[in-house]
Amino acid sequence: MSVTPYNDNRQVGHYINNEHVAALSDRSQPIYNPATGEVARTVALGGSEEVKAAVAAAAAAFPAWADTPPLRRARVMQRFLQLMNENRDQLAAIITAEHGKVFSDAQGEVTRGIEVIEFACGIPQLLKGDYTEQVSTGIDNWTMRQPLGVVAGITPFNFPCMVPCWMFPVAIATGNTFVLKPSERDPSASLFMADLFAQAGLPKGVFNVVQGDKQAVDALIDHDDVRAVSFVGSTPIAQYISERSAARGKRVQALGGAKNHLVVMPDADVERTVDALIGAAYGSAGERCMAVSVAVLVGDIADRIMPVLVERTRDLVIGNGMDDKSEMGPVVTQQAKERIEGYIGLGVEEGARLLVDGRNLEVPGHSGGYFVGGTLFDHVKPNMRIYNEEIFGPVLACVRVKDLGESIDLINAHEFGNGVSCYTSDGGVAREFSRRIQIGMVGINVPIPVPMAWHGFGGWKRSLFGDMHAYGEEGVRFYTKQKSIMQRWPQSIDKGAEFAMPTSK
Ligand code: NAD
Repeated sequence: MSVTPYNDNRQVGHYINNEHVAALSDRSQPIYNPATGEVARTVALGGSEEVKAAVAAAAAAFPAWADTPPLRRARVMQRFLQLMNENRDQLAAIITAEHGKVFSDAQGEVTRGIEVIEFACGIPQLLKGDYTEQVSTGIDNWTMRQPLGVVAGITPFNFPCMVPCWMFPVAIATGNTFVLKPSERDPSASLFMADLFAQAGLPKGVFNVVQGDKQAVDALIDHDDVRAVSFVGSTPIAQYISERSAARGKRVQALGGAKNHLVVMPDADVERTVDALIGAAYGSAGERCMAVSVAVLVGDIADRIMPVLVERTRDLVIGNGMDDKSEMGPVVTQQAKERIEGYIGLGVEEGARLLVDGRNLEVPGHSGGYFVGGTLFDHVKPNMRIYNEEIFGPVLACVRVKDLGESIDLINAHEFGNGVSCYTSDGGVAREFSRRIQIGMVGINVPIPVPMAWHGFGGWKRSLFGDMHAYGEEGVRFYTKQKSIMQRWPQSIDKGAEFAMPTSK
């Protein structure tokens, strides 16, 4: 049975073998419009039956897709790229409706996802192996990279287009077949992309979507035919996925949570730094894994920057994401709002100074929406929970330190290591900072240093479980295995058995 997948009030279902598939079980949950608090539609929650069907479709599609020349796979990707570009705004509107982020931010997310598709269009070049002629007399050695089989991706709510695009375009371009388990909070973008991919000529079963929660995730990880698992989400779940997948002998990369610092040196330009902090802390209501949630104010910059920061935080324009004027939309769910407001109360109890309080915000005409205002704390200390834990909302904590060394020690001691930024006019400081900081992605006067599609994305410490980063060349390596071939032809073979370890002759 077919279901209409998005922008209506019916159930969001699965996508298997290039067809929309309704729920096979009666488990489902509501999808809310975060700006109004109303139930917009429901999503089917798949379990082992849906996973079995999707993995079977992907396994059946694998041999032919893996055998398709990379150039032909790239041509399908190019048509998909074109359709994504043509439908960018519709996809962005679907994201805003379920996630809540403002429309321009959703457009930016789609653009960053599209960049990975552009990267994947170059797959023939990326799959090119190495070749060494004459490794020994008459013998040549070369390598090739081959796909793994059926691979799975499990993604978070905060980037329902971009994060799946970190995974499936690279996995599919390299010849794998894919099962995506998107976030159950904003599942419609995945179906929209699946439809476009089918229109682009992707064969049946190469890209499948199973909606669901833990039951679907566990069934996917446990399925014998799933060879690799990519995960992006919170750290406790990333660790769980990593350990459970590894215990079942699967290749796994699991990207987790974050607490990203932005260091402000005394020589930083105050106005530009405040622009950076406001956008990076409150953009997407702080629900970005690269959001800046801690400002580390070095020396006397604190007293100069704080009044401007307070004023700009109070002036944030907050409202419905589809409204042109809004700079920040709601957070994703009522539970998220309660969690964030709980952390604000905790910060007060812990003794941090609350300069702007985003609790109890009323947005006219949106009384049921999940809005939290921009929140600013000063004099936050490293032993406080609001410093150590990921709040994932529009809350900026300011910590005061005396010099660069203290800022580096502070950041290096934190359990997370996703992103960091340093605002300074001094090249020597920037160099020292970049070299000594124990963080995977560093910005120098760049607040959200999300690497471009061909560089790869990944944090350090408890922000990434696994060895390889997402997308870029590391993504290509993650989704392929290398084979080395050593070859010679009969006329160059010496007569007689050799018992010594072969060496170059
Ligand atoms: P989440 O961990 O709650 O969910 C992520 C995925 O895991 C979802 O698909 C969800 O259905 C599934 N899941 C949830 N609980 C599970 C369980 N018990 N067992 C198995 N699967 C489960 O994360 P979220 O709230 O959707 O997203 C926000 C988090 O993601 C934040 O911590 C953020 O920092 C992180 N994130 C990290 C990156 C990164 O690149 N490091 C990028 C985006 C988001």
